[in-house]
Amino acid sequence: MLSVNAYAATSPTEPLTPATIDRRDLGPHDVLIEIKYCGICHSDLHFVRGEWDEQNVHYPVVPGHEIAGIVAEVGTEVTRHAVRDRVGVGCMVDSCGECANCRKGEEQYCLEGNTLTYGSVDNEGDVTQGGYSTHIVVTEDFVLKIPEGIELDVAAPLLCAGITTYSPLRHWGAGPGKKVAVVGLGGLGHMAVKLAHALGAEVTVLSQSLKKREDGLRLGADHYYATGDPATFEALAGSFDLIVNTVSAKIDLDAYLSLLALDGTLVNVGAPAEPLSLSVFSLIMGRRSFAGSLIGGIRETQEMLDFCAERHLGADIEVIPADKINDAYDRVLASDVRYRFVIDTSTLT
Ligand SMILES: [Zn+2]
Ligand SMILES: [Zn+2]
Repeated sequence: MLSVNAYAATSPTEPLTPATIDRRDLGPHDVLIEIKYCGICHSDLHFVRGEWDEQNVHYPVVPGHEIAGIVAEVGTEVTRHAVRDRVGVGCMVDSCGECANCRKGEEQYCLEGNTLTYGSVDNEGDVTQGGYSTHIVVTEDFVLKIPEGIELDVAAPLLCAGITTYSPLRHWGAGPGKKVAVVGLGGLGHMAVKLAHALGAEVTVLSQSLKKREDGLRLGADHYYATGDPATFEALAGSFDLIVNTVSAKIDLDAYLSLLALDGTLVNVGAPAEPLSLSVFSLIMGRRSFAGSLIGGIRETQEMLDFCAERHLGADIEVIPADKINDAYDRVLASDVRYRFVIDTSTLT
């Protein structure tokens, strides 16, 4: 067993603190990764604060599922990765591999329930611990390659924010001739804009105000509208083929559905805690769909990393030392980040 430095939450209310955790001995198919950077995802906060499913949080928990690093050691039967390879790990570290969805390469929808990077119980009955740490051991099939052409720090957020937005953009055909709107310009939203633009779609940001307009246009948006202005919904009625909603708060679904063109889709990647309601007429009038999407499979995550590396496309980040993690959490809640905090794990001493 390898004892490694980490930052852990010990309860839903206390700040995260330095901790030491054990990583399992390398099995034949395991890869030991020296983590260089780990992004801070909004879901890390929800999880450690027990906001989703408190009884299932086993404290202490080390969050982090936007992991980028270097292979330090490989198990005897590992074929996909070699020592010194640049690699990443996202939201999942294992799945059953046999159900219909796993066989399709959609491990995020594993019918047996996949093993999440932190806070899940793995095959050995141990609780998984995430990327706010110096090392992690992951089975080779869930380790992604980070190609040259993209630095590890800006690649880290691609492992959750990147794939969470890339997958629905691809599934619903964002590309040349398609009009895509992105609701919310935060960690997920800024990646959605970059990716939709890189895929060739005409991109519109729908944000509460025009405060981040310049950023939005710089990131690749063609248009930028304030949803706080009722004139926006009149001006854009029936416009979009696809709307990607990255906001986790309650929104007026009927208002957003009215912005869709014939056969358009509104897809939620943000997950508000409370149920939403809509008028079915909003769907019937225009054969519209309301959908959801969860991260992406391993194969598609690799496709996204390759796509980003070819275009030198990474997240906009602010690198922080480990002792600023709690400050960063407060700033994430205040939407005071452009657009992702990334922990430099060399500071975990
Ligand atoms: Zn995440
Ligand atoms: Zn499965």
